[in-house]
Parts: sequence; structure tokens; C-alpha cells
Amino acid sequence: MKNAGYQAYLVGGGVRDLLLGREPKDFDIATDAHPEQVKKVFSNCRLIGRRFRLAHVHFGREIIEVATFRANVTNGEDLDRESENGMLLRDNVYGTIEEDALRRDFSVNALYYNIEDFSVVDYTNGLPDLRDGVLRLLGDPATRYREDPVRMLRAVRFAAKLGFIINPQCEKPIFELGELLDDVPAARLFEEVLKLFMGGVALNTFEKLRHYDLFERLFPETDEYLTHEEGNFPVTFVNRGLENTDNRIAEGKPVTPAFLFAVLLWEPVRQLSNRLIAQGQSPLQAMQQAGSEIIFCQSKRISIPKRFSLPMREIWSLQHRFNHRNGKRPHRLLSYPRFRAAYDFLVLRAESGEADQELADWWTEFQTASEEDQNRMSKPKQGSSATKRKRRRRRKPKPRNQEAE
Ligand code: ATP
Ligand code: MG
Repeated sequence: MKNAGYQAYLVGGGVRDLLLGREPKDFDIATDAHPEQVKKVFSNCRLIGRRFRLAHVHFGREIIEVATFRANVTNGEDLDRESENGMLLRDNVYGTIEEDALRRDFSVNALYYNIEDFSVVDYTNGLPDLRDGVLRLLGDPATRYREDPVRMLRAVRFAAKLGFIINPQCEKPIFELGELLDDVPAARLFEEVLKLFMGGVALNTFEKLRHYDLFERLFPETDEYLTHEEGNFPVTFVNRGLENTDNRIAEGKPVTPAFLFAVLLWEPVRQLSNRLIAQGQSPLQAMQQAGSEIIFCQSKRISIPKRFSLPMREIWSLQHRFNHRNGKRPHRLLSYPRFRAAYDFLVLRAESGEADQELADWWTEFQTASEEDQNRMSKPKQGSSATKRKRRRRRKPKPRNQEAE
């Protein structure tokens, strides 16, 4: 880049994380070259984006995003660019590096690292904020949240991830403006929710979201049950699920959005399913219908792609099958592709007191037992065989949530 006579800086989260001694997730580059000019310099470059053109430079499997400096125009020239509540509809005006810095969200995200002389360029007092561990929104906080309400989620996400505090003036409007998240497109919120809960600090993030009354904007049904907790239950389930996700990430194990969303929506699904059972549906039918309804409802706010909502439904539906421990059925369940996720889910339920620990333990043992032991474990108990065909197996009543199937 610089050989071709352009300026090029590393910018954004990569610089922030480097300066904090953390491992950067990715690097973005900002330049004064226009996208077409970037393309001329790099043969391995593709231009993307319609609203704002970006250059993607491919290095093997790595993609470096190269963006031209742009400005955040706020004069009266084009009034049509704001929606009623002040949300930005367009932001594709090229600008200087300083303007590029000011349109960013937080001061610590607006540091530029000059590749040529290894200097850090700071137009926004980002360095002192970085040192003090403060997230400070650039410009007037309420205006910036109105322009893009997702910035409230980003504030919480960075606070949890970096252990920073949100500057008091930037913190206050969040309590009042959470509603604006309702206007954010559902597809974008899905992406943001993944970043919130799959960054390794989901539990902390969740607690902060609740503190700022933002969780209810994202998962209203779930939130309702969190505030009406019964005997310590729903809260622990979501907490444990998120903790489990964090632990898996720390251990380098894979995590899937399907499991995460299955956890986050379980309580509304379970409650609805119980109501449907009370109305006479079979447990499996009830669970399937409840799953569909809750996913449908949730998708208006946060769109969950099919490739995740299908496995979510399976995880939920399989919960019911864990109750069948006799004969061939447990063997069959083991060979389900979704067995493992559903089993992990059962263990979580047991840990939070909503499912039988004994049942979870049985499955823990069963799946690793020898064939001989498995056959012994799944052999119908004496005396129950005569009635087993007609009667649905009933579990012992549990200390709480007895209406669970
Ligand atoms: P992460 O570590 O999660 O990638 P990041 O700071 O790099 O954090 P990105 O979403 O990758 O976040 O965005 C890159 C940069 O673009 C940010 O550092 C910030 O300067 C700018 N940016 C991103 N989203 C916004 C936004 N909604 N409003 C203003 N600036 C933003
Ligand atoms: Mg980034």
C-alpha cells in the first residue's frame, strides 16, 4: 500500500487488543485509497458491500478488510439519511483519517497504528482511556446510541470482555434507550447475540445485559421467567448454560449457536410445553409445538437461521426421550446425530434442579457402558413389563417444577 503512495493504518479492535497485550481477533486496515485503488494494488482483492464498498484482501485463508477513511456527516444536507428515531441509514461519505476516527464508536476503538513507523495515532484520547480501562463513546452518547442502538450492546460486550467500565455519561442513557433495539434488523441482532454470548465471557455479559435492562429487549419471553423465578430455578439454568459455554470455549471445544439458543429459550419452551400437555397433548407433540411457537416469536426480534433452529428443536424434542430407558429405545437414542448435544442439555437441566439427577447419571453411565452392561441397564424391571406397553412411564415426583414431563 505505502509503496503505491497511500497511507495505511491498522485500526479498531486489533490495535486496541494489541495495546492491551491481548491476542487480537482480526485486523482491519484503514486507508486514504479508494476501493478501486486498493484493488489495483492487490491482485488478491475483492470489493464487497453495496452501501459501503470495502476491499477484502485475501492472503491464503486470511481475509484482511481494507476500508477507505470515511466521515460521519451530520449537517443538514441530507436529512433523509436519518430515520425518525435518529438511526443512521447511510454512512458512505469518504473523509479524512480524523473524520474516520470520530465516526467510530469508542475512543479505544479509534486508535490507528501506523505500519510505516510503528506509531499510534490518537485523535480521540483513546490511549488514556485504554490505560484507565474506560469505554467512552465519541460525541454525545444519546445521539450516538440513537444513530445505532447496537452500540449499547457493544458497550456491554466490550465492558465484559475487557473488564472495562462504561463511562458514567455513556452508561446513563442505556437505561433509557434500550427500546431502540426493537428497530434493529433481526438478522443483525442475531450476529450481535453470537458475539455477546460466544466470546468466552457469556455469563458476565448476560449479567451486565440484565443490569442495563437490555436482555429483555433481546429475549423478552426468557426475561419474563427470569424475573418470576421459582425456587432458584430459571436463573440457574441460563447461568449454568452460559458458564458451560464459557468453559467449553476456554478448553478449546466447539460451541454451537444451536445449543446456546436452546439454552436461552428453554424456559419459555418448557413452560408452554407444560401448558399444552395440560391441555391433553402428548409430551412429544407439546414440545414440538412449543418449540415452533417460541422460535417463531423470537425470530421476529432475532432471526435464527434454519441451520440452527432445526437442531435446537431436536435438542428440545429429545429431552422427552431420555425418559425411556427400557428395551431398544435407549440404544436407538444413542445413535441419533444430536444425541450428544441433547445429553449435554439434560445434564445442565439436572444440574439446575429441573431434571432428575439420577436420570442424567443413568445416561452418563449408559453411553460409555459395555454392550453387556447396556443390555443389563436397559432391561425392563421385573413386574413393570406387564403394564409397560399401555402406560406412559412416570417419573418420581420432583422437589420442584413437578409439572415437568
Ligand atoms: P472485536 O474484537 O469484537 O472484533 P472490534 O472493535 O474489532 O471488536 P468490529 O465489530 O470488528 O469490533 O469493528 C471494527 C471497528 O469498527 C471498531 O473497532 C470500531 O472502530 C468500528 N465500529 C464497528 N461497529 C461500529 C459501530 N456500530 N459504530 C461505530 N463504529 C463501529
Ligand atoms: Mg474486529
